[in-house]
Amino acid sequence: MKKIALHWQILIGMVLGIAFGFIMTQVDWGKDFVGDWIEPFGKIFVNLLKLIAVPLILASLIKGISDLKDIAKFRNMGLRTVLIYIATTVIAITIGLGLVNLFKPGEGISEETIANLSSTYEGNENIKGKLATAAAQKDAGPLQALVDMVPDNAVAAMSNNSLMLQVIFFAIFLGISMLLIGEKRAQPLKDFFDSLNDVVLKMVDLIMLTAPFAVFALLATVVVTSDDPEVLLALLYYALTVVAGLFLMIVVYCLIFTIYVKKSPFWFLNKIAPAQLLAFSTSSSAATLPVTMERVEEHMGVEKEVSSFVLPVGATINMDGTSLYQAVAAVFVCQALGIDLNLGAQLTIVLTALLASIGSAAVPGAGMVMLVIVLESIDFPSELLPVALALIFAVDRPLDMLRTTVNVTGDATVASVVAKSLGKFGEPKVKEWDDHLDEVSS
Ligand code: ASP
Repeated sequence: MKKIALHWQILIGMVLGIAFGFIMTQVDWGKDFVGDWIEPFGKIFVNLLKLIAVPLILASLIKGISDLKDIAKFRNMGLRTVLIYIATTVIAITIGLGLVNLFKPGEGISEETIANLSSTYEGNENIKGKLATAAAQKDAGPLQALVDMVPDNAVAAMSNNSLMLQVIFFAIFLGISMLLIGEKRAQPLKDFFDSLNDVVLKMVDLIMLTAPFAVFALLATVVVTSDDPEVLLALLYYALTVVAGLFLMIVVYCLIFTIYVKKSPFWFLNKIAPAQLLAFSTSSSAATLPVTMERVEEHMGVEKEVSSFVLPVGATINMDGTSLYQAVAAVFVCQALGIDLNLGAQLTIVLTALLASIGSAAVPGAGMVMLVIVLESIDFPSELLPVALALIFAVDRPLDMLRTTVNVTGDATVASVVAKSLGKFGEPKVKEWDDHLDEVSS
């Protein structure tokens, strides 16, 4: 029997999950049933992905860097990566600002809607939490981000998924030191990490066998916990503006990929689709990272020394979808509340949204925290911040799912471009998912 490609299996799981979620919202005991018996399977899946993220980053980054032969190459790759990441983020913010100024979704929001949304979400714990996190981040000094990157304890860094940058720092440090002591002495350690890397990639394969069922659980949960559709309708125009921007960003990636890597955009989308679908289902680029790495390395042919550096760094600092969303959301709330934004304020949004996307954690809802910081940079009245978040809160989850998909696609595009520019875009190791499945199950 011919096997259905993985991304189709995942899509079917998603559609069935959404349908099941809708049915369950109509049944009295439906929400409890999903919470008790369906949601845990989604959580287990996300936990499994997070479980292998640290060993995968460590193994592949250390192996990748120690394979480089000399440090100048690493510097060269690092510089290209960061510059391209910044460039794509600026493009994303510009698209966001362009669309929100063109469509002006905030101007159609009536005072009544604002009052309704503010009272619906007044005292909402989630919003309070986001404001508190943003306040804590704002109080930190200007170099705090740099300090936060350097761990004082490698094991502690590895034991906390939100300290991904510290793990990356440690892995780069170790990899460079291995380069410096020479190939012969570093070989045993290299063999160890090489083997660990292969083992973890196999773990990704095994976890992915459950992906279609897991996305069913994840999406059914999203549907039963989502807000009243009427609230969503009031924000439809705003949501569509963000969606249009995110769609344009995917077109930009496809163009960059086709022009630079000289391969069809459909080939690219086909290869990366499982990672995109998981990003959509989990709303977390960090949880999706192992799958992104596996797709880019094994299925697209980007060599490990590039993908192992570019992708984990991208998952933490490159969030084009998030920064586009922040630009649209910031201007949207100002339009809705009648706050005027001049050119200077809009340029400030470009800068802070860029920094905010670097500082955002790769977890669900992180973009909203950084939105507070973007708003504060344009002197948004602080007493209105809870209203601002209440205004966009209802549609945050679906938009988070979409912007995370864009974040992951952006990382994969940049990894391909950097690899191509360094002559490290080879042949895919796995040509067809079907072959791969056979391999896994045999
Ligand atoms: N959920 C996003 C991510 O993980 C971050 C955000 O925009 O909230 O990439």
